[in-house]
Amino acid sequence: MRYDYLIVGAGLFGAVFANEMTKAGKSCLIIDKRDHIAGNVYTRDVKDIPVHWYGAHIFHTSNKATWDYICQYAEFNNFINSPVAVYKDELYNLPFNMNTFSKLWGIKTPAEAKEIIASQIADLNITEPKNLEEQALSLVGTDVYEKLIKGYTEKQWGRDCKELPSFIIKRLPLRFTYDNNYFNDRYQGIPIGGYTKIVEKMIGDVPVILGTSYRDFISQADDEFDRILYTGMIDEYFDYKLGELEYRTVRFEHELMEGVENFQGNAVVNYTERDVPYTRIIEHKHFDFGAQPDTVVSKEYPASWSKGDEPYYPVNNDRNNELFKKYQELADTEDKVIFGGRLGQYKYYDMDKVIEAALDMVALEKGR
Ligand code: UDP
Repeated sequence: MRYDYLIVGAGLFGAVFANEMTKAGKSCLIIDKRDHIAGNVYTRDVKDIPVHWYGAHIFHTSNKATWDYICQYAEFNNFINSPVAVYKDELYNLPFNMNTFSKLWGIKTPAEAKEIIASQIADLNITEPKNLEEQALSLVGTDVYEKLIKGYTEKQWGRDCKELPSFIIKRLPLRFTYDNNYFNDRYQGIPIGGYTKIVEKMIGDVPVILGTSYRDFISQADDEFDRILYTGMIDEYFDYKLGELEYRTVRFEHELMEGVENFQGNAVVNYTERDVPYTRIIEHKHFDFGAQPDTVVSKEYPASWSKGDEPYYPVNNDRNNELFKKYQELADTEDKVIFGGRLGQYKYYDMDKVIEAALDMVALEKGR
């Protein structure tokens, strides 16, 4: 059997690509090494609760076209992400906003908060932030940095904030209103019924072979495909011949708590102290306003990645970005393989950006 495309990876990128290329009249086959589709957006029902198996995924975007796109495949609820941070038994609202500042300093007005932050920043004398620590300090001052950023970030990335790129922290908004909505985006929600169903719908009738690694598969089937979209790790594809890119991995401890109706009162609770080994606890039912008699919680333990682990986050520091560029040059010399997604493009993508990148790739492919 011949196909126009082999798609390696049944995650969001691969699913959008398969969907669009099928609509354009191309034949596709998808393979995935896991035993399920949907990559890291996979949700699995446990006692009727959609559990975000590889970490919390909250869809948000400001791009209307992207929102309209995803809404073809699911109805979204009106969940708004409002995480709570725990530091030494005190609770603080996220993102950093007037609720946070009021709790930290016992103040009421934006002017008071701005004055405290400005005086903390002035004492630091940072003119051009060179790393995440300096970027964070020059945005929020010392108190917020020490209590809510430093420990969490160093746990998540496994290195000192001085050795991290500042763009990571730009994800975190800072505002002077009493507004706990984590994202600034116009559209936000959780797909009713879970993410797996979205990917299922996108994939439609495209055949999928699960539990199959690319290497094993392609050694016997290379000439069956005109083109190959590879959404796995780009360095692994090239057998690490230029060196290993770094990733962070996360170990999840999922726990079904029978008879516990409500464990923590919020979907996401971050633990910002360095000494607590996990970064957050997710209580999945709250993503869907669930009223089930039981609950499922997941603790998230970040860890350094080594071969064989699941890669989650690319570590986009200078060393890795340089190395990635070299892999990209190699990738450009491949005549039939293209690379996409968080791992293929080595980018810290949100879901909306994954969809947009996949649609861009579709446009390029159609124009070939
Ligand atoms: N962050 C932080 N404290 C928090 C939550 C986030 O300092 O309580 C910082 C941290 O540097 C982290 C970044 O914000 O790496 C992005 O966090 P987010 O939870 O948005 O990322 P996700 O893991 O969900 O992609």
